[in-house]
Amino acid sequence: MARLHVEDLRKEFDRGSIVAVDDLDLEVEDGEFVTVVGPSGCGKTTTLRMIAGLEEPTSGSITLGGEDVTDQSARTRDIAMVFQNYALYPHKTVFKNMEFGLRMSTDLSKAERREKVEWAARMMDIEELLDDTPDELSGGQQQRVALGRAIVREPKLFLFDEPLSNLDAKLRTTMRAEIQRLQEELGITSVYVTHDQEEAMTMGDKIVILNDGNLQQVGPPKDVYDEPANRFVGGFIGSPSMNFVDVVARRSDDRIVLDGGEAFQYSLSSAYSQEMEVQNGEEAVLGIRPEDIYPADGPNGIRTTVDVVEPIGSDNYLYLDIGEQFMARVSADFEPAVGDVVDVTFDESKIRLFDDSTGESLL
Ligand code: ATP
Repeated sequence: MARLHVEDLRKEFDRGSIVAVDDLDLEVEDGEFVTVVGPSGCGKTTTLRMIAGLEEPTSGSITLGGEDVTDQSARTRDIAMVFQNYALYPHKTVFKNMEFGLRMSTDLSKAERREKVEWAARMMDIEELLDDTPDELSGGQQQRVALGRAIVREPKLFLFDEPLSNLDAKLRTTMRAEIQRLQEELGITSVYVTHDQEEAMTMGDKIVILNDGNLQQVGPPKDVYDEPANRFVGGFIGSPSMNFVDVVARRSDDRIVLDGGEAFQYSLSSAYSQEMEVQNGEEAVLGIRPEDIYPADGPNGIRTTVDVVEPIGSDNYLYLDIGEQFMARVSADFEPAVGDVVDVTFDESKIRLFDDSTGESLL
């Protein structure tokens, strides 16, 4: 296994009119599992294909295990890729599918190849499928074979391109856990592309968020969740999404009041006010997650009207009219009726503030 270093990686299509990946820098440490997430068309697959050697970069470099592989062919990079559609040979048995890469890239004897395939089959719990062909297998079993075929080669790097998208929700959860177990047992350096932010959050040691070919933020999932670098990340990570509302920051003495017009005035404590990098009168966007809004009156109470109540069992989602429509996630014990007027407030330490024009975080 090996460290991956991607520097200034760029891919243009159609003579530069499409910038699919815009000067991307990325480090993946030895044994690290990094998830790459972003909306459709943000450049995830193109990034992965360049790392794999299936797409030629317009510029930039890719270093794997200290070796510059940018100009190497896919075949010589010692990278295994797992795809959404499994990409198995339909007429070869599972054994042959798993053995194929070894035949191509190593000079192991037949007995040694068998030993390795059996080891990988044990890892993936598919020993009893070795004589079957892929068309006899379920989607989940086929993906286990695809994973087995990837690990059998013991490559330097694993690339996953939305490998679980074709599986139903329950199987996806099982396979997620399976891939994480493999990761722990084998210490596989991995880059895992997904459009599912929940998958990215639960699986990644580190999560990379792309938008429009541009890197938005890299970091451990909790850091990205708690301290989004910009409004895009705040809105993209977390479900239901972060709420946003336009405010004007007003400084009085050592405090900042976030002025939401007629809807609310939220006065920050002096300690927290110091962290906010805003001028008096500056327009900004306040971001607050649904779980950080709770029923309370008194100072900083915000009067709202309940538009919709959605029970989800453990909690209720409330759609509240605070000038904008906000969603709050509250305990199932708190169950107002539609049309009720309720007072809520924000958890001060969870309030995020973003620049009105650039969207960058202001704290
Ligand atoms: P998705 O989640 O939908 O698969 P993605 O994040 O993987 O999207 P890419 O497939 O990498 O995104 O595409 C990034 C951008 O590059 C898109 O605008 C896409 O239309 C464009 N693109 C990708 N491949 C080509 C190509 N061969 N020719 C022209 N444009 C391309």
